[in-house]
Amino acid sequence: MTDTLVPDTSTTDELTARRIVTAIPGPKSQELHKRRLAAVPVGVNSMLPVYIRRAHGAVVEDVDGNRFLDLGAGIGVTTIGHTNDAVVEAARAQLGDFLHTLFTITPYESYVRVAELVAERTPGSFPKKTVLVNSGAEAVENGVKIARKATRRRAVAVLEHAYHGRTNLTMAMNFKAMPYGTGFGPFAGDVYHVPSSYPYRDGLTGAEAAARTIAYIEKHIGAEDLAILVVEPIQGEGGFQTPAEGFLPALQTWANEHDVVIAADEIQSGMARTGTWFASEHFGFEPDLVFFAKGVAGGLPLAGVTGRAEIMDAAQPGGLGGTFGGNPVAAAAAVAVIEQIEEQDLLAEARRIEGTLRPALEELQSEFDIIGDVRGKGAMLAIELVAPGTGATTKTPNSAAVQTISSYAGQHGVLLLTAGTYGNVLRFLPSLAITDEQLHDAVSVLREGLIEATRRS
Ligand SMILES: *Cc1c(COP(=O)(O)O)cnc(C)c1O
Repeated sequence: MTDTLVPDTSTTDELTARRIVTAIPGPKSQELHKRRLAAVPVGVNSMLPVYIRRAHGAVVEDVDGNRFLDLGAGIGVTTIGHTNDAVVEAARAQLGDFLHTLFTITPYESYVRVAELVAERTPGSFPKKTVLVNSGAEAVENGVKIARKATRRRAVAVLEHAYHGRTNLTMAMNFKAMPYGTGFGPFAGDVYHVPSSYPYRDGLTGAEAAARTIAYIEKHIGAEDLAILVVEPIQGEGGFQTPAEGFLPALQTWANEHDVVIAADEIQSGMARTGTWFASEHFGFEPDLVFFAKGVAGGLPLAGVTGRAEIMDAAQPGGLGGTFGGNPVAAAAAVAVIEQIEEQDLLAEARRIEGTLRPALEELQSEFDIIGDVRGKGAMLAIELVAPGTGATTKTPNSAAVQTISSYAGQHGVLLLTAGTYGNVLRFLPSLAITDEQLHDAVSVLREGLIEATRRS
């Protein structure tokens, strides 16, 4: 389609700033949206129905020529930046060689290379092995499957506010019913939600929160029946709850003592997102298994489980796999992503982003009393919004303000994602390619959105 309002002579290098040239959504997006409503079920929702034509770095451009600063990166997927040159080149080269053989029929090197590279970068110096799959939910499913085989136990424990995917098992593992589970049951059994660490709301130290979690598990499930405890080191959809210091290591110690497999779902928090390869590192947490997906292949679908070799090898030959798992193009892209993170020192970029964004968010917090909490790490930060005047008392969730701000941002050229069990969190997951200038510009739009939300309440 070349028939756009803006003549198509620019290159993707010019995608550097937001620019709104039509109503949002513009006329071409509205046309496409009509077709979509007739062809795609309503269960597949879109936050902002602007139809995208191209993207580069931290900017996406729609079919009407509007440009958006992307603070969501497709939910933390294009961590390396949209259409990163090296990643596109690696995928393009692989496209010309072969697209598919199925690793479980005739294997290829890039799958093995991804396994090696991820094993070197996940926490823990013990021998590790990796299985590659297509999606985050599939990684979680495989992790549970492997842990059950390795322990010969049945039960699965997950934290309150957890999000793990949209398959039957992972729906059972999610904390929030609406919209992820409501009406879609019956769900997989033997899945238990246990108390988490949510310092802003529970006021507990890491040790206190861990003692509460462990007591709950021992009473309600029983360690001898527990195969696996799955935690997100920083919770994603749940609202970027960042556990108090000591919480995760205490769970790890307890799990190790009771032969319970402990797994980090790093699907959102991993792959350089928080300024370390995996967020577990911030907390001195060495899980037995790590689940990864989202950011690993720069936008191509790839996911996996990396973990202790003796646990990973519990599954019988032929017990793991899947037609598209570890697709050669996605695997080639992942190798390029990991090399780029290293060569360009993108871990430092995630820390730069925190250095710019966190103080800006804290300044807004001192200006707007509806910002109850600023939290997260690296390029994974969030603000939790509460009703006016309740920040010191009931901390009443303010999802209306979140809706107002997110929609204001969209109208003004900033893609800003929501989150939270109570829908009252705004999360910032920009690509590591976002510049300080772009961040400051996005914060100025956020500030206008906060003024708008305050005016309406
Ligand atoms: C997105 C996500 C998943 C599910 O990944 P999909 O690729 O959407 O299946 C699981 N866990 C966490 C923490 C996630 O953020």
